[in-house]
Amino acid sequence: MIAVTIDNIQVEVEEGTTILQAARKIGGKIVPPAMCYYSKLKGTGGKCRSCLVKIARTSNTDPRPAAKLVASCSTPVQDGMVVQNITSPEVIETRKAIVEFLLINHPLDCPVCDQAGECDLQDFTYEHGLDTTRYEEDRREFNQIDIGEKIKLHMTRCILCYRCVYTADQITDKRVHAVLFRGDASEIGTYIKNVVDNDFSGNVIDVCPVGALTDRTFRFKSRVWFLNTVNAHRDCDKCSGKVTAWMFGNEIYRITGRKDQFGEVEEFICNECRFEKKDKSDWIIEGPRKIERKSVISQNHYEIKAKQSVIKPLEGKVEPLT
Ligand code: SF4
Repeated sequence: MIAVTIDNIQVEVEEGTTILQAARKIGGKIVPPAMCYYSKLKGTGGKCRSCLVKIARTSNTDPRPAAKLVASCSTPVQDGMVVQNITSPEVIETRKAIVEFLLINHPLDCPVCDQAGECDLQDFTYEHGLDTTRYEEDRREFNQIDIGEKIKLHMTRCILCYRCVYTADQITDKRVHAVLFRGDASEIGTYIKNVVDNDFSGNVIDVCPVGALTDRTFRFKSRVWFLNTVNAHRDCDKCSGKVTAWMFGNEIYRITGRKDQFGEVEEFICNECRFEKKDKSDWIIEGPRKIERKSVISQNHYEIKAKQSVIKPLEGKVEPLT
C-alpha cells in the first residue's frame, strides 16, 4: 500500500490506483468531477479534462511539483504524493475554463432536454462554471441521424466523451457507431446509416453524461424530478434484471440501470428489461432508491422536508416551521 494526500487528507491505496480513484476512496467534495471517465469501462478517461488536479509533490523520492495540471483519472498515485484539488485556486480557475470550453458547442436547451436534472454537464456547470460566455461564433449544427426507434441521438449536445463507443465495444456483440471525422467536425455516427440495435445497446443512454443519447420510449413524458424512483428486479436470462424503475403513481415511465454514488451504472441491463417491461407486474419492487440530497431529483422526495414545512393555503406559500 502507498500513501497519498489529497486536499490535506491522507489515504492509503494500492499501487497503480489513479488519483481520481484515491479521491473516491476518501469521498465527499474533494472527488474531482468526471465527464468522460467511467470506472466500469476500460480505456475511458483523459479526454474531457474536467478532473484536472495539481500535484504539489510528486513522491517521497521526487518532492518537486508537477510542471502542469494532470488528469486525475489517468495519473497513478505515487508514495508520498501530495495532490491539490479544491484547495488549489489554479485548479478551480482551470475548471471554469473547462466548463466554458465544453459549453462552446453544447446548446443551452436544458428546459426541453430529457437529461435535465440528471445531467453531469448541468451539475458541472452549476458547481464550477461561469455565468457568462465569451463565445460569439455560431454553434455546430448537424443533420439528424436516426439510430433506431429506441434511442434518440442529439448530436449538438454531444461532448465527445467516447463513453458510448466504449460501452458498445465492450458489452455488445457488434459496435456499429463511433466518433467519425476529426477536430471540430467530429461527430457520433454510424457512417453507413446503421441502426444501433442489439440486446445491450440501451446502456449507451445511461453512460452518456449529457442529453445526446436519450430513451425514445420516455422522451417528453415527464421531468425526472416528478417521478418516484424505486429499485426493482425480475428474472432475466440476459442480464441481472436489477434496475431502477421511474414511476408516476402505479405507472412505470422508464427503466434505467442502477447508478452508484458517482453516477455510474452498477450493472449494465438488457434492452428487454429497459424498453419492453413497463408494467408494474413485470417487476418485484424492492423499495425507494437512495438519491443524493443535492440532486434536483430529490426535490419533494424527502420525508424530513415534508415534516419541516407547512403549507399555508391562504397565502399559498411554503414556509419552514420555526
Ligand atoms: S453521445 Fe454521449 S456518451 Fe457518446 S460521446 Fe457523445 S456525450 Fe459521450
